[in-house]
Amino acid sequence: MHEMSLMADILYIVEADAIDRGFVKINRISVIVGELSNVLPDALELAFSFFQKLEDNLISEKTELKIIREVAKARCKECGKEFTPDYRIALCPHCNQINTEIISGESFQVESYEGSERFED
Ligand SMILES: [Zn+2]
Repeated sequence: MHEMSLMADILYIVEADAIDRGFVKINRISVIVGELSNVLPDALELAFSFFQKLEDNLISEKTELKIIREVAKARCKECGKEFTPDYRIALCPHCNQINTEIISGESFQVESYEGSERFED
């Protein structure tokens, strides 16, 4: 499950930034997951729940993981029409050309996070 190492990377980066800003806990992390990104949201949540139980970091059971799904979208360079591709390489359903490009759905990134400087809220 590569989501485990992806989540470890996300938390490493977010926590380092949070510590720089003087935060003592992280309340929410928002992550954008594209439908074509090869990242499974369920597995990502499972990985997150594992890290929530560790006590040597800034996230806890109260930290929320918000997953923002990015829909898959492609554009045909021949006819210019947009369509929903099933894979990264897709045939245009309008003119059957392979000269298409993915314009949405490949993202996997942290959109934002929220932390606080106090333990109590
Ligand atoms: Zn086309």
